[in-house]
Amino acid sequence: MSEPLIFELSAPGRRGYNLPDIDVPRQPIDTLIPKEHQRSTAPSLPEASEPTVVRHYTRLSQLNHSIDTGFYPLGSCTMKYNPKIHETVAGLPGFRSIHPLQPDSTVQGALGLMFELQELLAAITGMDAVSLQPAAGAHGEFTGLLMIKAYHAAQGRLPGTVIAPDAAHGTNPASATAAGYHLVTVPSNQRGRVDIHHLRRLVNEDTAALMLTNPNTLGLFEDEIVEMAQIVHEAGGQVYYDGANLNAILGVVRPGDMGFDVVHLNLHKTFTTPHGGGGPGSGPVGVKQPLARFLPVPNVVRDGQMYRLDYQRPETIGKVRSFYGNFGMLVRAYTYIRTLGREGLTQVGRDAVLNANYLRARLNDRFDEPYPGPTMHEFVLSGRRQAARGVHTRDMAKRLMDYGFHPPTVYFPLIVEEAMMIEPTETESIDTLDAFVEAMREIAREAEEEPEIVLSAPHVTPVGRVDEARAARQPDLAWRAASTGFPKAEEPAAPDTPEGV
Ligand SMILES: *Cc1c(COP(=O)(O)O)cnc(C)c1O
Repeated sequence: MSEPLIFELSAPGRRGYNLPDIDVPRQPIDTLIPKEHQRSTAPSLPEASEPTVVRHYTRLSQLNHSIDTGFYPLGSCTMKYNPKIHETVAGLPGFRSIHPLQPDSTVQGALGLMFELQELLAAITGMDAVSLQPAAGAHGEFTGLLMIKAYHAAQGRLPGTVIAPDAAHGTNPASATAAGYHLVTVPSNQRGRVDIHHLRRLVNEDTAALMLTNPNTLGLFEDEIVEMAQIVHEAGGQVYYDGANLNAILGVVRPGDMGFDVVHLNLHKTFTTPHGGGGPGSGPVGVKQPLARFLPVPNVVRDGQMYRLDYQRPETIGKVRSFYGNFGMLVRAYTYIRTLGREGLTQVGRDAVLNANYLRARLNDRFDEPYPGPTMHEFVLSGRRQAARGVHTRDMAKRLMDYGFHPPTVYFPLIVEEAMMIEPTETESIDTLDAFVEAMREIAREAEEEPEIVLSAPHVTPVGRVDEARAARQPDLAWRAASTGFPKAEEPAAPDTPEGV
């Protein structure tokens, strides 16, 4: 990788712009910024011409895999193609050039869009009220759990545990812990679903909530969900829907109808706003009526023909983010929903499931399938057959990059040995899926016949195989420090555990 740092491309006096001479009276800086808030030395910023900057960042972007350059079957992450019309709409001056502190009367279009998006997401999930504020899926989980806590507290109750399955995404236990709950794990059964008998034994009056994603992270639909929700409700608990996997069931079945009380959605997954380095997240939460009074403020409401930001919610959990959410993402998700309409959204879920099962059926003779049978939008294979011969899932994942594909999610969910979790999404054509199948089958052959080529992969990427343990423990920041004048990083002490542990 030969691209230098922008600091190394810097030369004194280089500029990308010329400002006209000042045509208003000059003001001494002290009248604008108090002395103690002024910096004493100039910031260490690179100086470069416009073409240097444009070429540098364009080249950097080309070193990265992206959804615009190739297939990205990262399970659970729903890396679907982001239609470009969303960018056109988000770039309209009325959306792009407004300020969050403008009076409501001057931003009626933006507020109207937010109000309608709240209503659309409520209809799609089967919830009664929605907040657009949380900035990611995990943030939505945290917000939802705080509302559940407020709901129990309003009834004079303080249950202390949250139950989540052993296949749960890592953010579920993390959010439960951050919200002050004790986490209890419910195991999966032989069918890769929550063991409902075990769940029955775990649920009691200390259960604040059950957190589930459906379909689960194995891509399997929790077919006993209605009964599970009933078990939790009878004990006074709430049922939380991790909506990151909504793509699979979009327009077909709604969490609200399955018995869930709270959901979060990842607009950056199901609703195609760019993510994975392409933009900020957005994790709206929806609730059933009994929890609506605890939603974050402000919510967008309509009075007659006018929209406004409503702060009048005395029992609110408060604000969870500055201003009103990642507004640009709300515009993109709204555009997506309105472009597809009801029928288009339903087709999304169906095609995502079809694509996943097509890949599964074309790969499950070469790789082990720990939970055989049809799945929803994603499926999990195991590389244990290849691992027995010394080629591990991580090696095959790296080899996929040589074929121009982003690797699937690996080593997750934790309950599958040598896991490869593959999610094609509905936006890929059969040609792309076939090319991916050919690459995976070829890698399975290589693992048997010429393992060296897999073990030393990747070969064609800007950076080859790195020593992962060393890269994490002894990051090489020194050359950066030398060129920028930033303080040099301390040499880390020699690790006292063996490499790779
Ligand atoms: C992505 C994901 C999350 C977390 O979403 P973030 O926006 O990354 O915080 C939670 N649960 C599941 C199942 C996910 O796939």
